[in-house]
Amino acid sequence: MTGQPPTEPRNRAAIVLGLLLLAGIGAAAVLAVAARGDGDASTAAGSATTTAATAAPATPAPTTSTPPTSEPATTVVDTGEIAPIEDCHVPTGAFNGVGFVVPRFDGLARSVGTIRIATIFADFDDAPATRTPEEVFAILDGPAAEFYREVSYGRAEFVLEPHFEWYRLSEPSAHYGAALLDGELHRRFIQEAVTLADPAVDFSGADYVLVVSNPDAPNVPFGPVFVSTDPGWNVEADGRVFTTSITSGFDLNHWGGMWLAHEIGHTVTLPDLYEYGSTDSLRFVGDFSLMGDIAASSPGLFVVERWQLGWLDDPQITCQTGGSASHVLTPIETIGGMKAVVVPVGPTRFVVVESRRPIGVDAGMPDEGALVYVVDSSIASGAGTLDVMPGVDAGPAKIEAPMAPGESYTVAGVTITVTSAGPEGDTVQVDVAG
Ligand SMILES: [Zn+2]
Repeated sequence: MTGQPPTEPRNRAAIVLGLLLLAGIGAAAVLAVAARGDGDASTAAGSATTTAATAAPATPAPTTSTPPTSEPATTVVDTGEIAPIEDCHVPTGAFNGVGFVVPRFDGLARSVGTIRIATIFADFDDAPATRTPEEVFAILDGPAAEFYREVSYGRAEFVLEPHFEWYRLSEPSAHYGAALLDGELHRRFIQEAVTLADPAVDFSGADYVLVVSNPDAPNVPFGPVFVSTDPGWNVEADGRVFTTSITSGFDLNHWGGMWLAHEIGHTVTLPDLYEYGSTDSLRFVGDFSLMGDIAASSPGLFVVERWQLGWLDDPQITCQTGGSASHVLTPIETIGGMKAVVVPVGPTRFVVVESRRPIGVDAGMPDEGALVYVVDSSIASGAGTLDVMPGVDAGPAKIEAPMAPGESYTVAGVTITVTSAGPEGDTVQVDVAG
């Protein structure tokens, strides 16, 4: 079935998030903040288009202390103020459902259990497919599902359910390329493909839809996600209302299957961690989390991302609101154990410490240790909502940000000192300025 355009005039806004490879910039970021109002677009446009372009990250002025020449004493007096975990739940920034909030926003796709993605294929009169759907699907089948199986600790299984047939869309490919930058046109793009496939595909069991564009159509340059928290403005089929869906583009040839892992992150509410419209787009998170860089050497999601999605439980996070305390953190790449210390430093700001090791999806990371970052849920996707602290010697793309024993770092009145480390993780002392 086809969703009919709503008749009631009202303002709507949605974000289209995606990655685009731009000449000279490499993994540059592109954001389209699409605003739509039926005959009355100004309000929505006025509020939405400023989201990415003008929001500046509230980056603190951190201070780095000189590493001590010998390790701190091993006897740590535990006078820390350990608070109920609710004191460290991240309040919502309410960015159209994409952003940091714990517990997570429930309006988009489920993040726990088996998530079924109806996968259909679309090409164009001016760019007919030359590869079979099966050949294109082989690019997508595997990497994203395997990635999430690991980073969710087995709690999320994303299953692609392909229907191997090319459906010919009605307009030239450039029309759909332009649609990627406009929320309503992107919705129509997805709805058109869904409607064409509907006679042959049962969408009633799908959590959302992936429309695979002919990857040899350069006029459809990249593949973003469609997100709409407006209940009257969605993609519909077979009685299902999809608040989120994905389309692929030409850059699938560059990114390969991990592109889909990044977009799946958006469907389950994760924000972009690279900087929109920047020539230094990795300045916030460097080489960590594929929501910052699909090709990161340490693509594993941060603790706050996994916690938000229900893949870490509250007892695996310690909320410290004052004093001094010592914590043993197990690597995020392993199942179980304490995964992070969170210190609230403002109504929406939190200092987080986690432990990283070159294991699994992070096997390629050149450094290891305690990683410190600041989350501010009031900052929008693509504007620095998560900022990795550089540690003592960050190096290019902050690849050396993880701290080793003896190293110490202070941000927002919170001093983190690594007192010991081993395969089992890092022991950190956290001192919160009174
Ligand atoms: Zn993105």
